[in-house]
Amino acid sequence: MSGRKSWTALWKAWRRPLLLPAFLLLIALCAGVLPPVGQPLEGLPELRLFDGEPLIRALLSRRDVGSGIDIGGPCRLRDASTSMVLEGGGRLSWDGHVVTVGGQRFEPPISIAPPRGGSLVTLDRRYAGALELLADDNGSLLVINRVPVETYLAGVISAEMGIHFPDEALKAQAVACRSYAIRRIRTRKHRAFDVGATQATQVYRGVLAGHDRARRLVTATHAEVLIHDDEILDSVYSSTCGGHTRPADEAFGNAAPAPLMGGPCGHCDDAPLFRWSATLEVEAVRRMLKVPRGPMSLESQRYYPSHRLRTLTLITVVGTREVTARQLRRLLGKAAKSPWIASVTLEKDRFLINGRGFGHGVGLCQYGARGLARRRKSAGDILDWYFSGAERARAW
Ligand SMILES: [Zn+2]
Repeated sequence: MSGRKSWTALWKAWRRPLLLPAFLLLIALCAGVLPPVGQPLEGLPELRLFDGEPLIRALLSRRDVGSGIDIGGPCRLRDASTSMVLEGGGRLSWDGHVVTVGGQRFEPPISIAPPRGGSLVTLDRRYAGALELLADDNGSLLVINRVPVETYLAGVISAEMGIHFPDEALKAQAVACRSYAIRRIRTRKHRAFDVGATQATQVYRGVLAGHDRARRLVTATHAEVLIHDDEILDSVYSSTCGGHTRPADEAFGNAAPAPLMGGPCGHCDDAPLFRWSATLEVEAVRRMLKVPRGPMSLESQRYYPSHRLRTLTLITVVGTREVTARQLRRLLGKAAKSPWIASVTLEKDRFLINGRGFGHGVGLCQYGARGLARRRKSAGDILDWYFSGAERARAW
């Protein structure tokens, strides 16, 4: 058989099976399903801050001398010289120098990881990655979860926003949380941990129900962070702004970048704490101001440009006295759900206080993000709305 004949026979044999895949490929190209060759998806700039996905160190708890830690099994404990598998878990005791378990002594730093084949370590909750036990200068034992940052973020968005929120709101939350986390990783290299696990940094409770969905949404925003003026933005967030996000300089007292200067939200009015009210006894204010008993009246109120109360001026028996919104909130305690005091009236022997929102109100409004996602806005639209002027890039 000649060469030409063999090619003809080959074409005859394969043309039918190849017809359908070729047709589908053509349709996909026409519909723009495939990304242009050689370009990253969405074309976001790459910052290359890390070679690959970085690890984050989250401080889970700090244990005092004499305390114990219950670890679920199976897991492997390891220090510089000893290694041991706890098949059914066990109770670790800390005496200020060594950790003891099952008669075996371990000296910090100690690593606790799942044995081969496992993926989670169980403490009070389940954690991916590994646990590290470190002693601090005060003799306390630090329990730290060292985990890939994207896995950590799946836990954070579930704990901070709630896995029942819409996809696009959770994706926007993931980018905000990642920006915060990456800033911490880069600025705390010489510290024992990068973040805590409470509201002081970001709430983190390990692997929660709905983790697979959270992980998928985090992956959809892979490595994305917010940047402004060539720096990763400190993209803070709170539950419910109350209708207008708060300028960061007003809230935190120092200069803030343009994307954190606040603006109208307009999408959180169905949040549980969009409005709140509380009462405060006049007597409590009188005691704080250290003025004698007697008639008291409201003279004037001053407000910030974000419509939040700044100060009240009261007329007391010893003259006018000024009360700041911060002082009022301190007297209200937990009854004040946010810094937004919208109005104060005086009625006989008590102040009636109306407020709006829940949380500090700066940056992304979580219920507002839910509102925007329900109006079919994308995660990118949501981030543009709350961090106007910030850009997105990939950190690695
Ligand atoms: Zn809002």
